Amino acid sequence: TAQLIDGRKISEQVRADVASSVSARREQGKRPPGLAVVLVGSDPASEVYVGKKREACEQAGIQSFSYNLPASTSQEALESLIDELNADRHVDGILVQLPLPDHLDPDPILLKIAVDKDVDGFHPFNIGRLVQRRPALRPCTPAGIITLLDHIGTPYKGQHAVIVGASNIVGRPMTMELLLRGATATVTHRFTGDLSYYVRQADIVIAAVGKPGLVKGEWIKEGATVIDVGINRMEDGKLRGDIEFDEAAERAAWITPVPGGVGPMTIATLLQNTLYAADYLHD
Ligand code: NAD
Repeated sequence: TAQLIDGRKISEQVRADVASSVSARREQGKRPPGLAVVLVGSDPASEVYVGKKREACEQAGIQSFSYNLPASTSQEALESLIDELNADRHVDGILVQLPLPDHLDPDPILLKIAVDKDVDGFHPFNIGRLVQRRPALRPCTPAGIITLLDHIGTPYKGQHAVIVGASNIVGRPMTMELLLRGATATVTHRFTGDLSYYVRQADIVIAAVGKPGLVKGEWIKEGATVIDVGINRMEDGKLRGDIEFDEAAERAAWITPVPGGVGPMTIATLLQNTLYAADYLHD
């Protein structure tokens, strides 16, 4: 049966490493890295995520600047805040928590974020850099998954990675990350048809869909590495992933739990990105 990939523990290590690099910076007389976190409205899930991001910053010695704007904020007001933050020398990273309220269009906002402050890695420039094999700021969830895969010594080259889900924030950049490491990557999505045909061939399976138990345990190849990005709140209040965990764990060599697998890596990578921006893009 599979060994667990402990995202909590590995993320704590990453966060501790960021914290010690931040102290080393401070000892050289440099300012702390700064992250501006912008929340519009009061979506409860977003409030929780934003709270966790701010707390993680404080713990790592990263200064966090909070902007809690009312749901009624106009497109112009939000865009002019981005202009201000782009010009602010204490701000290394700008994070606009999505989703935005319906009357706001996220695309022009994300385009406006300076590419060297785009710590979520969603700007078309940074996505393009990753596609062209010269990553700069990388989307946090896929980059965090690479940290997990590196941690367990994944060889990548000669391996077939099958990604289930093709979103802009997870599936697509994940595909590019795996390709960059030398894996052969297949992306599947809602129009794929027979998912099992692909998953059965996979040495590495990454599921990022948002449908509990979509990937059946019996599809998993013996000895595969199984990464579950899905976060689904069940009626009993528990969280479940997109992969049938117990059945998959019988066949896999490595598997991430939900919760406690990929989730904590996303925030840890956000801190790494903010430090990277301060060290390499701004000093
Ligand atoms: P999304 O809704 O933007 O994209 C879902 C993708 O799944 C689409 O590409 C769609 O084509 C595909 N899909 C839908 N039905 C399918 C099917 N039957 N077979 C194959 N593919 C199918 O979702 P997202 O933003 O990428 O998020 C996916 C999941 O990951 C969600 O549960 C989300 O909560 C979770 N998530 C977790 C983290 C984290 O930090 N752990 C970060 C982002 C997202």
